[in-house]
Amino acid sequence: MLSHTIKSSENEIIKFTNLAGRFVKIVDLPKSILQNEEYFALKFYYITLADNSESEKVTFYDQKTIDKIENDKFAKQESLRKSKVIVVLFVVILLFLLVLLYSLFKANNFKKKANAELSQTLIALTIAKEKAEEASILKSQFVSTISHELRTPLYGVVGITNMLLDEHKELANSPHLISLKFSARYLLSLVNDILQINKIEDNRIVLESMTFNISDEINMIKNSLSFIAKNNNNFIIVSIDPAIPEYLIGDKLRLSQIIMNLVSNALKFTNDGEILIKVNLVKVEQDLHFIEFVVKDNGIGIAPEDQYKIFDKFIQVGRKETDYQGTGLGLSIVKQLLGLFDSTISLQSAIGQGTTFKFTIAFEFNPEKTNEIINNILVDLKTAQIINILVVEDNHINQMVTRKTIEKNNYKCSVVDNGYAALEILDKENFDVILMDINMPLINGFETTRKIRLKGIDIPIVALTAFDKTEITEEALSAGINDIIIKPFDASKLFNIINILISKN
Ligand code: ADP
Repeated sequence: MLSHTIKSSENEIIKFTNLAGRFVKIVDLPKSILQNEEYFALKFYYITLADNSESEKVTFYDQKTIDKIENDKFAKQESLRKSKVIVVLFVVILLFLLVLLYSLFKANNFKKKANAELSQTLIALTIAKEKAEEASILKSQFVSTISHELRTPLYGVVGITNMLLDEHKELANSPHLISLKFSARYLLSLVNDILQINKIEDNRIVLESMTFNISDEINMIKNSLSFIAKNNNNFIIVSIDPAIPEYLIGDKLRLSQIIMNLVSNALKFTNDGEILIKVNLVKVEQDLHFIEFVVKDNGIGIAPEDQYKIFDKFIQVGRKETDYQGTGLGLSIVKQLLGLFDSTISLQSAIGQGTTFKFTIAFEFNPEKTNEIINNILVDLKTAQIINILVVEDNHINQMVTRKTIEKNNYKCSVVDNGYAALEILDKENFDVILMDINMPLINGFETTRKIRLKGIDIPIVALTAFDKTEITEEALSAGINDIIIKPFDASKLFNIINILISKN
């Protein structure tokens, strides 16, 4: 066995042996090296062989280093194991992500499909909605055209019936004539009610704000129904809470319509009885005065099983043909009008004891009195002035009815068939007022009025039409028409308006 010395990089001489050509064992390790094991373990040694041949680089390890290496090895194996676990985990996660991605892809496809189906449905719905709206507009147009078309001949029927009764007093008790008058009036109220319901359902009624006095309104209703009250030997009692402010603000026309419907029902279904119209202030919240209206009768009453249905359209309980006039639409109109006021109606009734309807409406009040009741001022119709009226109307029966009505009230009347004839006669003759039909062939009432105004003629023009007032008001005013009267009209209303317009002119 050969012994060799080695020289460390610090030039220390270390002995070692050569075993099978490999220098494996350290002999007499220098202290300095032993003291610094770390250093030692990592140090390189250059070996000088005995024969002075080539030196070889050898690394020596002590037990600690070997342990350390083994530890390192173990740590590496451990980390390898961990890496494997991580790789496996990674693969699993990757797989999971792939599955997730796939399901997302699938879900996305499904969503896309569902979206496409939804868009299709939406398109179909939009088309259906448009069709429904179109149908609703057509229905409204149909109802308003039909009611216009019905009102025009009804004007003739009602007018001629009145003329017959006027000119042939001996027929006053003729059952045929009475039936004719009844049927014409019934048809007229049916047409008006249907038109009203149609308008409410189409949201075409917007409540207006007017200043009014509640007592005036209720008394006006009482007076206008006093004739019907007398027929059944009924008595109308009005009771108004003095705490209610003198001037309220609200849609007095719709309010009157509601009360009028309830009171006329009470009168229809009561004989020798009392109808109470009671108006109470129930509470005040800021500017809002909550007014409760009660219409109470001691008439025939309504059976409990019928009470829920009478607010439906065309429902009449135990109606006998000749008993009373009504369309079965009155309470339905009342309910819908109250809806516009954000109010509901309550009913209490017992057979044979009578019926009470109640509702509450919140009105603002007007601390300053403003007068808007110009239309209710009754003008003395017996004027000394001879008023010359031009009637522009294409329907010959209606021409005759209007002429008779005018002449009967001692007014002068000329009738022309169309707008051009009106323009012609106005060049030659002076008139105090023109009654203008709207729906005429060749040139309609609006266009004729515009042409008349262009000539500088500023006499009052009243549209006398079977159209619904709200439908034509805007165009009528812009054309230069002063007022509108719906056919069939009440003669006194017509002459009242004529007199107001002439006195203003
Ligand atoms: P109409 O009066 O035109 O028949 P309404 O819708 O106003 O239609 O009334 C529906 C039904 O409710 C009436 O036919 C009647 O049977 C019943 N009714 C309404 N008001 C009263 C009342 N005050 N007393 C008894 N019955 C009533």
